[in-house]
Amino acid sequence: MNTEDIVRLDRKHVWHPCTQEKDHETSPPIPIERGEGSWLIASDGRRFIDAVSSWWVNLLGHNNPRLNRALAEQAGRVAHHIFAGFTHEPAVELARRLCEKAPGDLSKVFFADNGSAAVEAALKMSFQYWQQIGRPQKTRFVSITEAYHGETLGALAVSGCDLYRNIYQPILMQGFQVQGPDCFRCPYGLERESCAAECFEAMEKLVSERHAEIAGVIIEPMIQGAGGMRIYSPVYLQRLRALCDRYEVHYIADEIAVGFGRTGRFFANEHAGVAPDLLCLSKGITGGYLPLSVALTTEKIYRAFYHDYQELKAFFHSHSYTGNPLACAVAVEVMKIMDEENILESLQPKMDLLDASRERFESHSHVGEMRRCGMVAAIEMVKEKEGKIPYPWQERRGYAAFKLALDKGALLRPLGNTLYFMPPLTISEDELQQVIDVAWDCIVEVAC
Ligand code: PMP
Repeated sequence: MNTEDIVRLDRKHVWHPCTQEKDHETSPPIPIERGEGSWLIASDGRRFIDAVSSWWVNLLGHNNPRLNRALAEQAGRVAHHIFAGFTHEPAVELARRLCEKAPGDLSKVFFADNGSAAVEAALKMSFQYWQQIGRPQKTRFVSITEAYHGETLGALAVSGCDLYRNIYQPILMQGFQVQGPDCFRCPYGLERESCAAECFEAMEKLVSERHAEIAGVIIEPMIQGAGGMRIYSPVYLQRLRALCDRYEVHYIADEIAVGFGRTGRFFANEHAGVAPDLLCLSKGITGGYLPLSVALTTEKIYRAFYHDYQELKAFFHSHSYTGNPLACAVAVEVMKIMDEENILESLQPKMDLLDASRERFESHSHVGEMRRCGMVAAIEMVKEKEGKIPYPWQERRGYAAFKLALDKGALLRPLGNTLYFMPPLTISEDELQQVIDVAWDCIVEVAC
């Protein structure tokens, strides 16, 4: 098929995710033919550095020879089989490796097939746990403002991004939402590097007053991704762990975006030195090759479901593609590469490069802040620097930057007025510098 035919058929039959389809009248979708390391290559020959890891999934580059081989080898054995009553080597090998790396005593792995599905599983596990140990009044979940945990109804109910959630509000389960950290516009006038997470008082108040009704608190550790790459202090997580312990509430960590080295540590919780009761992982788990997710939990939670069948305490939850062998085989290879190729150890010069660009970005009269955690960096454009006044969302300056960046050979997909980098961990320093330069040129053009 030639490029025009692909676009014509796409426009005729395809409905894209998180997209106002009408935008395609002026910016049609770009057919991608190949991937090569950090690059995506379009059918018309254009090349783009994938600075957002294709929605934060690609970890070790496109078309990675080791991942290709692991996938092909598994396909030659079996692509998929039912996972109830059956098991396979890649699943148990992956589970073993995840439990070994995971913080605390997370020792049980439940498989699902996308991020939202892992969040749903974790919420249901937490709820059912309290039902089965005689605390049936603990039914509600706490999340923070600007949280993002996926777009299925349960995950959406604990999300705090109005754009994705507002219209569905009448059909969402009711939980509690508290003001989360807002370090760029800190109401306490503090810095994220030195504060004691004073903003935690909102969470402290709610949980101390309503813990009898609360099953768990769900949070994205260290970085609230879709909420605008909002980076906050690990002290917040330390205080959350202590609060959850004090009031018998589950700490549910959503590391779907930040796990697998994005923050410079294998798991983001390591920055705080704490362990959750439930840990959701997806995205980078297969290096961005295949949909797979997991919810890890503790022996204690697992035991509350472990009874004679007739007691009906099993976790009656499943997805057809649970534990998909192709995805698990690739995920095992991802974990091997992370260790054998010293991926985390290789990040420092690239993090330094990002830091070195901060002065340039922050010198711009419409850049409020450049922030970084590990290999994730975000640049927030503002209408007025002094008062940190945002540009009205209707002006779509981020979208303008996205289109400009494509012309300059980079795939940047800003969140509102925030441009960010979350490249494959294997990006080279030269490629990263190119991305930084493209972002700068875009900001100079769109932020005025
Ligand atoms: N949680 C977080 C923190 C995420 O960033 C995402 C996806 N952006 C999800 C959950 C949902 O994952 P998925 O899109 O695979 O359902």
